[in-house]
Amino acid sequence: MRTWRKSLHEEPELSNEETRTRAKVAEALNGLGLRPTTYAGFNGVSTTLTVPRAGPTVALRADLDALPVTEATGLPFSSKIPGKMHACGHDIHMASLLGAAAVLKKNASKLRGPVKFLFQPAEEEGTEGGAARFIDRGALESPHVEFVVGQHVAAGVPLGSVAWKKGPMMAAADHFVIRVHGRGGHAGYPHRSTDVIVAAAEVVNGLQALVSRMREPTDPVVVSVGMIHGGSRHNILPDMVELEGTVRTVRAATRGQVEQALRRRVKHIAASLGTRATVTYREGYPVLVNHPATTELVVRALTEEFGDDRLVEMESPTMGAEDFSRYLNERPGTFLFLGVGTPQHTAPLHSARFAPDESALVNGAAVLCAAVEGLQRA
Ligand SMILES: [Zn+2]
Ligand SMILES: [Zn+2]
Repeated sequence: MRTWRKSLHEEPELSNEETRTRAKVAEALNGLGLRPTTYAGFNGVSTTLTVPRAGPTVALRADLDALPVTEATGLPFSSKIPGKMHACGHDIHMASLLGAAAVLKKNASKLRGPVKFLFQPAEEEGTEGGAARFIDRGALESPHVEFVVGQHVAAGVPLGSVAWKKGPMMAAADHFVIRVHGRGGHAGYPHRSTDVIVAAAEVVNGLQALVSRMREPTDPVVVSVGMIHGGSRHNILPDMVELEGTVRTVRAATRGQVEQALRRRVKHIAASLGTRATVTYREGYPVLVNHPATTELVVRALTEEFGDDRLVEMESPTMGAEDFSRYLNERPGTFLFLGVGTPQHTAPLHSARFAPDESALVNGAAVLCAAVEGLQRA
């Protein structure tokens, strides 16, 4: 697993560019005696471990892509490609899944059903995502998948522990672009223009009232503006300002309500200052909802494997997003957080200094094997 991980870590590839990564995963699977399936125009790899005994098929998933970050960990196997890094730990996910494949292959005669391995590209894409395209290409069929299990490294969970949650675990993530249009002019004579900078500032503040005044306080919502672009000089009022941001919600009904409220509010704020706003709103990944009964079976098996004290039940969902949610919309299953947090290592995911401890590989493989055991025993 260490060897696979080092090689994957050294050559990170961004979403939808994972051809080298695909080749490495396929080669590793071939080495284990598992015939990989690859796809035209899609960088996923899948394989099925067939076993003598009939039973439910469990699908295990890892993601392949890296991020546009320049690595600053100082690790001896740091990224060789400037501006690209496995800063989200997907190298750990892949190597653990390959490790699990090796263990399960060796124990095929003891398994109570087939296991399908899904190596998915483009998780970080954030728009359609690789999971949707993988499902379109039959990821959950032939053999028909009964349960899906995935995991993600988590810096907020102690190394050696696994965090789990029934029901909603991660948020839906949507993306919006707001353009405020007006009539620019001389900044010394604002009354002769319609000031889109002031209107945009009111829009940013006004959006926060969607969260604090229009939603139930116990129903988490995040609206963040991450980019503002407008203007060319300190004494010129521009014609247009563009704002881009993200909306995170946990309830399906809330998602639609926030979109409608955002559109209405932005238009009215802009109009009240004599400007005009257009809103482009695009839905990203849906809410990730863990199937309660399936999660219970997996947690029971993990408790036997790791012991009570290493399983952490999450109190509330995180506002991050994951396109594993798409598999969970098709089949019962569960997503888990694999702890990589230590007191010495505090760099968060997506940071240039994110360097999870290697022992996460063994833990990750053990989590996946135990999950298969628990689901097929049921
Ligand atoms: Zn990520
Ligand atoms: Zn990730």
